[in-house]
Amino acid sequence: YRAKNNRNSVSLYRSEMEMDYLRQLVVEQRLRLALTDKHLHMVYQPQVDNEGLVVGLEALVRWQDEELGAVSPQEFVGVAEQSGLMLSLGHFVLDTSLKEYAELREKLGHGLDLAINISVIQFEQPQFVKEVMHLLHTHQVPPQELVLEITESLVMTNVDQVLNTIKRLQDQGIRLSMDDFGTGFSSLSLLRDLPLNELKVDKSFVDSMLDDPRAANMIRSIIFIAQSHAMDVVVEGVELQAQAEKLMSMGCRRFQGYYFSRPERLERILEICTQDSRGMPFKAH
Ligand code: C2E
Ligand code: MG
Ligand code: MG
Ligand code: MG
Repeated sequence: YRAKNNRNSVSLYRSEMEMDYLRQLVVEQRLRLALTDKHLHMVYQPQVDNEGLVVGLEALVRWQDEELGAVSPQEFVGVAEQSGLMLSLGHFVLDTSLKEYAELREKLGHGLDLAINISVIQFEQPQFVKEVMHLLHTHQVPPQELVLEITESLVMTNVDQVLNTIKRLQDQGIRLSMDDFGTGFSSLSLLRDLPLNELKVDKSFVDSMLDDPRAANMIRSIIFIAQSHAMDVVVEGVELQAQAEKLMSMGCRRFQGYYFSRPERLERILEICTQDSRGMPFKAH
């Protein structure tokens, strides 16, 4: 079915589409159950500064299903968005992350940045700002510590409404970050139109930066653009010491990636945050 123009392959191609559709139905059905039975959980990936200190966390949702095994968030977030489950999934993510983060914060004795991924479906919800403020209040988390990550696809639909929501969130002290920056079709016009607080350089640039000068130059340019708009930069997907060192020399001050830490459960994050890593920058955990 790889050669789609081969006449004999047509039926195979079609059945692959049918398989995708069946898979989507099953995932939707199981996800519905997982949401009611709370069979999902959150993990957190540290963001470190140039001294190797943990300064932030990105919350990432996980689902281990009894029948399907581990399903990737890429897959089930997509299914949730297409099947009306995203608001319920999004609420679970916000509520659980803020609750667990509040616990961590209490034990640490200080705050960090907590980054949470937000789907376009949530963002377009008229009640969204209210929901977030309510949950911050419930879990006693200062809005100044919350960073909401949005993606470019979100803005394609309705710039005015998105701009309005961003401003209302920022009025409350919440920061907005553009995830996977540089991979979309309209990265620059988006920067022109939206008052974002942070850019996250996509992993694909980091993947090729050591071999491809063009990728490295793109990262340099993104850092420059961010600095000239008074935005923070986080580089994600840092897997190697050589990448971290080169990024440092380019002026990056905030890193996220397997080289520093994989996403972990809250208990492990507490251990990582309390072990003093000062003086050993770029030491993998
Ligand atoms: P993202 O927001 O860009 O998250 C970063 C992804 O890169 C995470 O994958 C993380 O585990 C992975 N990653 C981080 N560092 C490295 C590295 O050094 N090497 C490699 N190979 N991977 C790294 P994950 O957790 O599978 O999430 C994938 C995507 O699913 C996320 O991309 C995000 O778009 C979406 N997602 C995850 N959790 C949530 C959520 O709670 N809500 C929403 N709306 N989307 C979510
Ligand atoms: Mg993200
Ligand atoms: Mg990303
Ligand atoms: Mg991504």
